[in-house]
Amino acid sequence: MKKLLLILPRLESGYWGHVSKSGKAGMVRLSLPTIAALTPPDWSVEILEARTTAVDFDARVELVGITAFTAELPSAYAIADGFRARKTPVVMGGFHVSVMPEEALAHADSVVIGEAEPVWESVIRDAEKQALKPVYQAGHLIEMKQMAVPRRELLNKNMYATGFNTLQATRGCPYNCEYCAISAFFGRKYRHRLVSEVIGEIENFDTKSFFFVDDNITANKRYAGDLFRTLIPLNRVWGGQSDINFAFDDQLLSLYAKSGGKYAFIGFESLSEANLNRMPKSLNSPDKYKTAIKRSQKAGISVLGSFIFGLDDDDPGVFERTVDFIRKSGMDATQFHILTPFPGTRLYDEMDRQGRIVDKDWGRYHTSDLIFSPFSMTPEELMRGYYWAFRKIYKLNRTLVRSLRSMHNIAPRASLNFGYRKKAMQMPALS
Ligand code: SF4
Repeated sequence: MKKLLLILPRLESGYWGHVSKSGKAGMVRLSLPTIAALTPPDWSVEILEARTTAVDFDARVELVGITAFTAELPSAYAIADGFRARKTPVVMGGFHVSVMPEEALAHADSVVIGEAEPVWESVIRDAEKQALKPVYQAGHLIEMKQMAVPRRELLNKNMYATGFNTLQATRGCPYNCEYCAISAFFGRKYRHRLVSEVIGEIENFDTKSFFFVDDNITANKRYAGDLFRTLIPLNRVWGGQSDINFAFDDQLLSLYAKSGGKYAFIGFESLSEANLNRMPKSLNSPDKYKTAIKRSQKAGISVLGSFIFGLDDDDPGVFERTVDFIRKSGMDATQFHILTPFPGTRLYDEMDRQGRIVDKDWGRYHTSDLIFSPFSMTPEELMRGYYWAFRKIYKLNRTLVRSLRSMHNIAPRASLNFGYRKKAMQMPALS
């Protein structure tokens, strides 16, 4: 039987996406288990986590498949080079190589541009004939009907928090924020699976809790309402990513909570209207943030807010303003990211045109490093402020106050808070 080896590369720096000393990683990433499920049954498939397992370049396999986030590219290309040096063909896929296929083809035999579903079987059949094409690309986005169910059993379950499954119900985003690669890759048309198919996948989970990896699970309120309503009898516990508007829809908010939605990741991004208008992220409005948080919490949903630092309207006072807002808002947990112009986004094109990108070492594109010239502060001010804000928010007393805010949802809230505190404490303590 022919063998496909799928590899998830490693990150060399940054604070996100690493495996902890106890061997735990963050969330289950679905891309490789999905590719495994799309592979014809006459092939055997192995998934290798390069974060924890050394790569054996002499492994006897007919094809190697690699997917990577931008920051994982140095590791991904090194792995690809290692296999190709031994004449083992390599195919790569994912956001980054889809927008930079020429770069990837210097390391791989083939690149899958965009969604793999329509083309993966051709990749496999061409690999059997040793006739791989350089590029595989479907001319259309898929309908999301009868989607392959990711082969999660190929993952090392011990690496992931107990009881943690992920799944995807929708793709695409109707919004078009300039820094976001989602709409560039999955399109602006919001596509969704049949509710019955999503529910069927959840029913087969071996755990009670799970996470919707969708970029915005509530973007289509009618679909989200149907999904949540059907989910209620399953008595599950879940979290997902959403925009703030769901918090102003009484019915959706109630269904989110009743169906077991315990927490929501919300991209607040900025307190500055000028920043939000420039993105443009017009669905966000800072004067609604506190109300959205309070309404969600009242419904029983914890809020994890994400903020970006380094936007053009961010001056050196942005860190203190944001930390102050977070404290007063009562938000349950917070993430900060340095603005990162990922290739394939409008932000990247614009900054590149302006000559503001100072480093194209993709290994630094992990949102906790600075690779462009900020507009309203110095690079040093931005990095110092980022570390300061993270450490300030995750001081032990604040971490405890947020975790113990209420006994309701205490487990996920405490776990998020102490997880982020651990990262914050690894950051430089600058005076
Ligand atoms: S940042 Fe969020 S709202 Fe904006 S385009 Fe990306 S997924 Fe959509």
